[in-house]
Amino acid sequence: MARKGLIIGGVESQPTSGVFEEVRSPFNGQVVGEVATADLHDVDLALDAATRGFEIWRRTPAHERFAILTKAATLADERQEAIAQIISSENGKSLVEARGEAGRSGEIIRLAAFEGSQLYGESLPLDANKGTGFDKIGFTIKQPVGVVVAISPFNYPALLVLHKLAPALAAGNSVVLKPARSTPLTAIALAECFIDAGLPAGVLSVLTGSGALLGDALVSDRRVRKVSFTGSTATGEHISRTAGVKKLSLELGASGPVVVLKDADIEYAANSISLGGYINAGQVCISAQRVIVEESIMANFLDALRPKVEAIRVGDPFAAETRVGTLISQAEADRVAQAIRTAVNDGATLLTGGEQSGTVIQPAIVTNVDPYSAFAQDELFGPAIAVSSARDVSHAIELANSTVYGLGAGFFTNNLNSAIQAMREIESGVVHINWTQLWRADLMPYGGFKSSGIGKEGLRSAIAEMTEVKTVIMHGQAWN
Ligand code: NAP
Repeated sequence: MARKGLIIGGVESQPTSGVFEEVRSPFNGQVVGEVATADLHDVDLALDAATRGFEIWRRTPAHERFAILTKAATLADERQEAIAQIISSENGKSLVEARGEAGRSGEIIRLAAFEGSQLYGESLPLDANKGTGFDKIGFTIKQPVGVVVAISPFNYPALLVLHKLAPALAAGNSVVLKPARSTPLTAIALAECFIDAGLPAGVLSVLTGSGALLGDALVSDRRVRKVSFTGSTATGEHISRTAGVKKLSLELGASGPVVVLKDADIEYAANSISLGGYINAGQVCISAQRVIVEESIMANFLDALRPKVEAIRVGDPFAAETRVGTLISQAEADRVAQAIRTAVNDGATLLTGGEQSGTVIQPAIVTNVDPYSAFAQDELFGPAIAVSSARDVSHAIELANSTVYGLGAGFFTNNLNSAIQAMREIESGVVHINWTQLWRADLMPYGGFKSSGIGKEGLRSAIAEMTEVKTVIMHGQAWN
């Protein structure tokens, strides 16, 4: 069983408190490891180390950073099965899903390494500005921001850590990472890939422990130039009030809509929704939560969807037949089961699923959902979809846009006009035509509108947000 200290400036360290805490499997409660709990003194030590580390790393040529990151990518490839086992153990997702997640690690790091070597600036046509002539030359250069604080959630403990660490390091920043308390071991295993690849001392720290205790100190510190946060909208709002004047990226919650119009391929849409609504037990910010179906095809659509959802095998994350594992905790499973019961009490219909056994919930389809009820409007983060009907394409888009969120949306149609209307009108950071929103290429810009967040991830976009543009003007004297 792993017992892991803090990582301060790349070196495994004892926590100031001397306290370690157990990490347990959400499936059976078994202890799967122990990690140190950081306190505020450790925050200070990590930020000091990061400040020193930044001075080294920002002066390390891009080709040397590239070499270290590509070595880290190779290590992540070599260690992917071990990382998958850690993900399933502490997060409860099925091993098949965990293998998919761990298998993307190396590629994310490689994409970031490439983008970190492409920090181009631009030349400025100063003479186009009245009053300025040919005696000056102006251009921009891109530089790393400095110390980046990265705070990540539990649901994709590898992907969401790497979408911060890899671009931050590739661009020449130092990083202090605070992973979710329930999934610290995955974060440490990934950090070890970078450290073993030769990252200089100081550049990377990992503080395990309580976000509520460490969060304010990390995000408000003046040594920090950028906070990159993924998690709930409530925590994101708190951070935006606390951080002060620094760069901020917030990847927050959602209640993702999927529209199925009457001209869509119903079988195909049902298949996609049977994946998009239930992968990772619905604990995905881009889960297909609200399914908005044109009235005339509702019965046919539900007939196509129901057997696919009932075929999803749930249970022991390590069992070969399990496709979907547990929720992250008993409290979360209880919350989701209660939300389904409340929706039914309020007039919705439970078509299938919803039975709870410990932290496992049978995938559920809830129909006749009032699209303005809490079950549709609030983020569920569980394995259930809320099905509502729409009169026509404009009504469907109005319902899709009816929440405070706007992260990802799916839209099924074979009508080009309706598809273009959706692309233009849906208020969402990503719109998928003929697939659900539960799809991501790691290089694509990814981030929410409205209460789903600020800024974009995806390696090129993340690097843009983790660099500063400096404008340089060289003043000469007129030569004639
Ligand atoms: P969370 O409770 O907000 O926690 C996220 C992280 O914030 C954890 O590391 C947590 O630490 C830390 N934290 C807690 N309080 C803090 C504070 N006061 N200051 C700074 N950090 C603090 O979210 P979660 O339950 O782990 O994750 C689920 C949420 O994340 C959902 O809403 C989901 O939609 C969202 N999410 C969004 C995206 C996206 O790309 N938009 C992707 C994935 C997930 P502790 O674990 O120690 O509490």
